[in-house]
Amino acid sequence: MFRAAIEKMQPYVPGEQPRPGQRLIKLNTNENPYPPSPRIRRAIARAVAGDGLRLYPRPMADEFVAAAAKLYRVPSRMIVAGNGSDELLAMLFRAVLDPGDTVSYPVPTYPLYDTLAAIQEARVIRAEMDRDFGFPVEKLIDAAAKLTIICSPNSPTGTEVSRRELIRLLDGLSPRLVAVDEAYADFARRGLLGLVRSHRNLIVLRTLSKSFSLAGMRLGLCFAHESAIRQLLKVKDSYNLSRVAQAVGCAALEDARWAQRNAERIRRTRIEVTAQLRAMGFEVPPSAANFVLARMAGIDLSTVAAGLRKRGILVRYFGTALLYDSLRISIGLPAEMTILIRELKDLAAPLTLMSPGWRIVKEDSPRPRPPRPSQSARLNRKRPALAAPA
Ligand code: PMP
Repeated sequence: MFRAAIEKMQPYVPGEQPRPGQRLIKLNTNENPYPPSPRIRRAIARAVAGDGLRLYPRPMADEFVAAAAKLYRVPSRMIVAGNGSDELLAMLFRAVLDPGDTVSYPVPTYPLYDTLAAIQEARVIRAEMDRDFGFPVEKLIDAAAKLTIICSPNSPTGTEVSRRELIRLLDGLSPRLVAVDEAYADFARRGLLGLVRSHRNLIVLRTLSKSFSLAGMRLGLCFAHESAIRQLLKVKDSYNLSRVAQAVGCAALEDARWAQRNAERIRRTRIEVTAQLRAMGFEVPPSAANFVLARMAGIDLSTVAAGLRKRGILVRYFGTALLYDSLRISIGLPAEMTILIRELKDLAAPLTLMSPGWRIVKEDSPRPRPPRPSQSARLNRKRPALAAPA
């Protein structure tokens, strides 16, 4: 009854969202632990007053776009607003990729790109990052895909592309499109948005879900040359942002200092957590985002993720060939991170004693069977989460 490509594809699986009332430390979907600007409450009240809900919202979210133009110093005609940046990514794939067209991106990265490519029946050229999770710029240029996507700072590695590398990509691939997914840019030193003015083949995506603490409101922004925006608008739902979302978006952007202060708090916590994880024996690539990737090369960390879950802490475990030995941990409140580090010490410390033989796993080999617990772990029967197989 459905298209063969849809029947065949795997759905995108978002991170677990707790049920209302369920008390968990939630470090699995990179939400901001701090509340959004207090101005937002008033904006919601105004948006629902009078005829607010009876009438359709403005199709182009004009005030929200104008607020973005002012904050980011980009003309309104170069901006389109989305129901989260996920919608903008979907619009981009829909507008650019016919069946059989190529799309390329570094891996590991945001798994939604795979899902969107499968829907379009596009051919994916995956460019593997190097061991330090640097960006494979030359591989991407050689791939010469119709659409290239760079997630920077990248999820789940936290690493970022440099301005010089991006310019090399834009020039090497021109006139083909390069989209930079900057969902986490506000946690980095600086973003790459300024380049949209000089590079016609660049599309930059931002979101208010992370630094503005508005994941629940679904607000994203796309910046590009006006000729690209005109094409994207053709595949946009007419009323993609509700009146409430548009009002909230304006209030948030007008109080950007609130978000900047929270981003600064998160950066400080990130530095501490990175040092603590490294002291425990994890490899942690330098992160420019609101999460870190904690890796124990060659050791399956599924049992650690499951152990944390049992203790009420959610982190993101992907379990793929490239990431079975890593956990992506969002930066929460300092008190939450103290609990995480305490529990992680308990669960992961025995793994660091594991025979080095278990750690030698070829990067491109399929996901290995979980290693047998070391003698010290076997002796430690009090910790069932660790001793149990994945
Ligand atoms: N890009 C990346 C890399 C992300 O991690 C996310 C969040 N899952 C998004 C885009 C989408 O963000 P949103 O739709 O909430 O704006």
